[in-house]
Amino acid sequence: MAVKAPRGTADLLPQEARAWDQLSRLALRIFGSYGYEPIETPIFEQTDMFTRGIGEATDVVGKEMFQVLSKNAYATLLEGGKLAADQRLSLRPEGTASVVRAVQEHNLVPSGAAPAKLMYFGPMFRCERPQKGRLRQFHQIGAECLGAHEPSVDAEMIIMLMRFFEKAGVPRSNMRLIINSMGDDNCRPAYRDSVRDFILAHGSELCDECNRRAHTNPLRALDCKNPACKQVLAAAPTIDNALCDDCRAHYEAVKAYLDMAGIEYVEDPHLVRGLDYYTNTVFEVQVIDGLGSQNAIGGGGRYDKLMESVGGKPTPGIGFALGFERLMLALEAAGVQLGGGSNLDVFVACVDASMRAASFKVLQSLRDAGVRADADHQARSLKSQFKLADKLAAPLVVVVGPDEFERGEVTLRDMASKEQRNVSIEELPTAVKGLLGE
Ligand code: AMP
Repeated sequence: MAVKAPRGTADLLPQEARAWDQLSRLALRIFGSYGYEPIETPIFEQTDMFTRGIGEATDVVGKEMFQVLSKNAYATLLEGGKLAADQRLSLRPEGTASVVRAVQEHNLVPSGAAPAKLMYFGPMFRCERPQKGRLRQFHQIGAECLGAHEPSVDAEMIIMLMRFFEKAGVPRSNMRLIINSMGDDNCRPAYRDSVRDFILAHGSELCDECNRRAHTNPLRALDCKNPACKQVLAAAPTIDNALCDDCRAHYEAVKAYLDMAGIEYVEDPHLVRGLDYYTNTVFEVQVIDGLGSQNAIGGGGRYDKLMESVGGKPTPGIGFALGFERLMLALEAAGVQLGGGSNLDVFVACVDASMRAASFKVLQSLRDAGVRADADHQARSLKSQFKLADKLAAPLVVVVGPDEFERGEVTLRDMASKEQRNVSIEELPTAVKGLLGE
């Protein structure tokens, strides 16, 4: 039987790979205009870093991480031995913890410095049950700002994310921006207790998972997708009444900035995001129509305590991540096609076998001049070469024939207008670029 890609993974075939490249470049451009610079962190990290940063009680760390074992480490485990911390490795389930670790390790925010504004893109790994819009290896584009607590940064992040989605082609009318404040160490513990008490009081009406969460991570129960639980939990205490003065002032200021920027949002006092590290502002962007239950295309929040949990000095931070695969589904639903079009400017055809070497030379000169050019490599007839050029959607075809070549010329044909003329081989790249409008 032929080998297939592992469950929950998907190949990015050329069109999708091109779309991924286009969106990554769009992110570089848009986030770059807000002062963000790229960072690349390893695909795997010490498991403890994720456990300490993201939290053992989260699904992402508690249930969904892929562990990485070297052969030696595996043998040690089989023999009943214990692994050292640097042998306990996991594939990254998200990007924030790694970026925060890197900022700490390289001291990118020395005291008194401007915030570090960083962005990344790449694959993430979570061993979830695969379904439409939910994979085990998926791709995220994210941004993190470390070193500033001002609410203007929160607003800037949210505006930047919305601008990215709009520029990528998701209609604003099909997006819902949801915001909330999750409070901080001052006010959240009491709120968490009140939600735990609510769950325990309604235990018989809630699923096992919600009951389990009452003891591990009560706020996560508010995110339960079970319709019966959702109905019961709609009456759970909301954090808006529990916020301390500082958190309330921060949240009000973020909203004021968003209002000023004309960014519409819905407040959901039950919005809690899946990871433990969030404090204050949290946000999520959902697609209203076309994505079913996996409708969150991006989200993030403030994480002022995360740096300390990975061993760094107190450094406020905020960030978001957006999912490439879900964004592609949202774009598809909106009729936007990315990654399409021809990847060829010119097809070089030879009249017959005697011109193959000459045609190879012309082809190479075009490529060296930066023109995207290709030719037949299967000894097709001239007619079949034109068919192939059509199939590849090449806008221009160069025909290399013996008489013209003798005079140092080739024929250049515009496939749309069907006009053709002879061009000297020396001037061919310039003529091609002229026709392509470069
Ligand atoms: P999170 O890191 O959980 O906040 O997720 C940020 C974004 O990544 C989500 O809004 C989704 O668009 C995307 N995402 C998260 N998990 C998955 C997954 N298993 N498969 C595909 N996309 C995902």
